Amino acid sequence: MGAPGGSPPGEVRARERALGVVLLALGGTISVPGGARGARLSGAEITAAVPGLAELGVPLDVRDVHAVPSGSLTFAQVLDVVAVAARAVADGTDGVVVTQGTDTLEETAFLADLVWPHEKPLVLTGAMRQPATAGADGPANVLAAVRVALAREARGAGALVVFNDEVHAARWVRKTHSTSTATFASPNTGPLGHVVEGRVRMLLAPPRHEPLSAVCDRERLAAARVALHVVTLDDDGAQLQGLERTHRGLVVAGFGVGHVPDVLAPRLGALTEHMPVVLTSRTGSGSVLRHTYGAPGSETDLRRRGLIDGAFLDPYKARVLLRLLVAAGAGRKEIAEAFALRG
Ligand code: GLU
Repeated sequence: MGAPGGSPPGEVRARERALGVVLLALGGTISVPGGARGARLSGAEITAAVPGLAELGVPLDVRDVHAVPSGSLTFAQVLDVVAVAARAVADGTDGVVVTQGTDTLEETAFLADLVWPHEKPLVLTGAMRQPATAGADGPANVLAAVRVALAREARGAGALVVFNDEVHAARWVRKTHSTSTATFASPNTGPLGHVVEGRVRMLLAPPRHEPLSAVCDRERLAAARVALHVVTLDDDGAQLQGLERTHRGLVVAGFGVGHVPDVLAPRLGALTEHMPVVLTSRTGSGSVLRHTYGAPGSETDLRRRGLIDGAFLDPYKARVLLRLLVAAGAGRKEIAEAFALRG
């Protein structure tokens, strides 16, 4: 309840401050005007079409950063965006929302999460349906994202993906469907929270870790090339030939609990002499194991050969973490520790 005669003084002060929300627009379906042609919608046009947003009474500082499909975003661009968002929060802004395409959102959100230094969350969202289509989901997602960015309850949770009135931890969220508006899910944990009748309800608090150093040097990032190899039936590893000459790290998306064909195991072991090799599962949820099976190509065999345990991280997120670590110049021990902590 408010104090007699109105809101408590703290609330009044917060409203007087009224620094508002910074919204950084990066393109994606939420900005596609319809049809195959035409200029993308600007951030201002996207927010103008959100019913109920103005009624929140929160000043919006909308900035057009990139206008691209999310598949064209780079690590350097995402880290630059995070730096802008972090500066805005350091300057006292009430919250930051990023709109972008959904295709790489699970990767960009995790990259942002790894380096995000603040208690206030960095909230990422987008849309599955173009703005001019029936039932376009962009407006609802933006409104929910702004609410989460402002919510005290969402603090300390790092980067969050808000979509379909659900709040997901960047660390666990996956794009699970090519067209559904309910595409974002966290198979290992479920959503951290929900937006219900406009109210942010957080049910879980993800563990937070020290932010990693955000390597924004484009040359170092470009040089930290990390490959992802999805293991398939009867895979002879031909794709891995010469990898040590072109890449500085490898993520293996193995079968089930982290297995590969026996013929592949020595090749992967040999690669660990040249670069960190991280073992993950291609299944989409669950963790790789550490010491349950012992056949050649099993998780025990691969760990003995020097592969690093990716634990619960899916292959795409493991690749994001490994690339950031390699770009920062981390050694094998540091990399193994980082995966033990965050995997
Ligand atoms: N789904 C695409 C993305 O993730 C949208 C493509 C586009 O914006 O043209 O960005």
